[in-house]
Amino acid sequence: PYAAIGVEINVDFVSAVATDLAGERLLTWRRAFSGGDSVNQGIAGVGAIIRRVVGRMAKEERQVLGLAVAVPGLVDVQGTVRIAPNLGWRDADIGGDLTKALRDPGFPIQVDNDANLAALAEQRFGAHAGASDLIYLTGEVGVGAGVILDGRLRRGRLGFSGEIGHVQLDPDGPACHCGRRGCLEAMAGIGAVLGKDPSQAEIQMEVEESVRLARAGDPATLATLESVGHSLGKGVSALVNLLDPEVVILGGYYVPLAPWLLPAVHEEVRDRVIASGSGGCQVVASTLGHDAAALGGAARVLDSVDSGRLPR
Ligand code: BGC
Ligand code: ZN
Repeated sequence: PYAAIGVEINVDFVSAVATDLAGERLLTWRRAFSGGDSVNQGIAGVGAIIRRVVGRMAKEERQVLGLAVAVPGLVDVQGTVRIAPNLGWRDADIGGDLTKALRDPGFPIQVDNDANLAALAEQRFGAHAGASDLIYLTGEVGVGAGVILDGRLRRGRLGFSGEIGHVQLDPDGPACHCGRRGCLEAMAGIGAVLGKDPSQAEIQMEVEESVRLARAGDPATLATLESVGHSLGKGVSALVNLLDPEVVILGGYYVPLAPWLLPAVHEEVRDRVIASGSGGCQVVASTLGHDAAALGGAARVLDSVDSGRLPR
């Protein structure tokens, strides 16, 4: 039997998923990660994780057909990470580095943007699987979109489409890790939810605490989530006006926060989308769990197998 592997490197965690060729999950794995590390340290850590996942597959006598790595940044069509603003990585050939770290593992390693891969996961496995026009929006430290239009992931000329997180909402807004100000991700990313620089946060724990406070009706938490929801809604509305998707799927930490974010998002979409009322686009929380991008890595490998680009 065979296996496909997806790995997500994010700012505060690494996750991995392995599936069989039917897309059934064989393994799910997540661990805290310090994205502030240099590329080299990062690669060493991620290489060790991949080795363990591949080892598990070998024990189950599964041959790994391919692996795709999701990164929170701009990946060009050759698979080079050009800018990962929240990791501080630039011009890194992490596919090549990982292949070396794994001493030629015998399967190809592809690298892709996290939002792109999560969109592929939604297209194959999500509640809106098969939708031909779907946008996935990451709710991590960074905010980015994976855009599927007319049934295909749209990458743009260089591979950099979907950078809605760095569209400016407010010229006087908070500083963004890309060096600009008032970007959507600075106003609606997880740092904005937590009210602090995410590099100083225990993100997962603090998001859980926000959920607890919101449930308990804490006024400050509710006000923050409402204001983040409005900023997020402005970003979502821009996507809907521009691309006319059937559904916008909010992922990552937006999922546990959705009950408090979505009302404001829906309000903005109602007010701002010029075509609202004529069939309307849905905005929903992902049902795939927090490892959608890793699962999407496996989906990308399965896509390559289906289209005959990877032999089985
Ligand atoms: C990056 C995107 C990425 C997003 C989510 C943004 O800061 O520019 O490429 O998809 O974060 O991780
Ligand atoms: Zn920015």
